[in-house]
Parts: sequence; structure tokens; C-alpha cells
Amino acid sequence: MSQIAQALQEIHSQLPDGTRLVAVSKYHPAAMIEEAYRCGQRIFGESHVQELQEKRPLLPDDIEWHFIGHLQTNKVKYIAPYISLIHSVDSPHLLHEIDRQGARFSRRIPCLLQLHIAQEETKYGFLPDELLDYMHGGEWRSMEHVQICGLMCMASNVDDETQIAREFSRAHAIYNKVKEDFFSLDASFRECSWGMSDDFPIAVQHGSTLVRIGSRIFGHRGY
Ligand SMILES: *Cc1c(COP(=O)(O)O)cnc(C)c1O
Repeated sequence: MSQIAQALQEIHSQLPDGTRLVAVSKYHPAAMIEEAYRCGQRIFGESHVQELQEKRPLLPDDIEWHFIGHLQTNKVKYIAPYISLIHSVDSPHLLHEIDRQGARFSRRIPCLLQLHIAQEETKYGFLPDELLDYMHGGEWRSMEHVQICGLMCMASNVDDETQIAREFSRAHAIYNKVKEDFFSLDASFRECSWGMSDDFPIAVQHGSTLVRIGSRIFGHRGY
């Protein structure tokens, strides 16, 4: 069995029913994506628009592409026709532009709102209070071309598992509150995107429905 096949099998054995795997293929060539595809993997995550635009035509059409990186508003138009889920909506302005591009392509684009939960300056996203304020503001209700499907977050990049667990647990509590207050009748709002190579076992204990795993599948990225 190839290393990729083995890694995929090992990860799946640790995922509960209802948690899906996003194979993060950024910086890895199409050939490696194809190998994971042959093992049955269908959801791939990329974090740079140009790289995604270059690789997608080389690969099977039934791949579900997820965008997971910081997305500049002026690049939304390139991925709007086909992207299956944008995990990393980190501002009202970006959501608005996704809605605009969704209209141009007659789609309702599935999105997650990115929560800034880590104790790190460099991470993008809504602070918990900003997110709740934004939801209360209600501007999103008139956006017919985005579908808000849940939340995404990254934990701090630390070894302290207690801290990581605390952060995911906090994200899950915020998800539950947003679900209850704004989406209780909306079955599309159901995704919690958290957990990466080093912390996904903790994430699945705190409600993760989508884990985004790269290096554990494809190995070290050359950057
Ligand atoms: C790169 C990346 C991942 C995957 O990271 P690994 O540690 O390689 O699993 C997950 N989420 C986001 C947002 C990323 O940019």
C-alpha cells in the first residue's frame, strides 16, 4: 500500500461517522492528488487561488474543491463558478463579494464563517463577539447567493493539548449558540471545520464535522 493510501486509512479509522476529511493538497502536485483520488478521496482543500486554478483542470471533474486559505475579494470571481465550500470567510466584506459573484454565476455558494479563536495575532477571522454582532446585524439574511453552512477555526499552534481542547470547545459553544439563535430551522447550517494534522483527534472530541488534513497525508510541504 502506498504511503498516501496508508495515511488515509489511518485517518479514517480515527474519524467518527459524520466527520468528513478534507485532504489539504496545497503545494503538492496534481499527481499526488490523483493518488489520493484513486484511494477514494473526493474532497480536497487548497489555500491559494492561482494554484487551485492551475491544478483543477488536470484532475477529475467530480472532485469537490474546498477553499481554506485567506481569500482576497478580488480573487473570488475565479473560484465562484465551481468552489464547493469556502471555509475561510473572515470578514463581512468578503461574504458580500462572494454573494455578488454567486449572483453572477447563478449559484448559492456554500460558506463557513471563520472564527478567530487562537491566541495568535496572525490568524484571520471574526472574534467571537464580532461574529455574534454580525449575525445580530442581519445583513447576511438578504444574501441569496451565499449559504452559511457553519463555522471554521484554527487552534493555536502549541503543544499544550489542554489549550487546544479549550479553544475547540469554545468554538463549539459559539457554533451551538449561532445554530440555536439564527439557524435552528436551517439544516444546511451544520458544519464545524476544525482539526488539522496535529490536532484533529482533539477536534473530533469537540464537534468537528470537517477535518482539514495536509501533511499527515501528503508529507512535508516544500515551503
Ligand atoms: C495548511 C492548512 C491545513 C492543513 O495543515 P496540516 O498541518 O498540513 O494538516 C489546514 N487548514 C488550513 C487553513 C491550512 O492552511
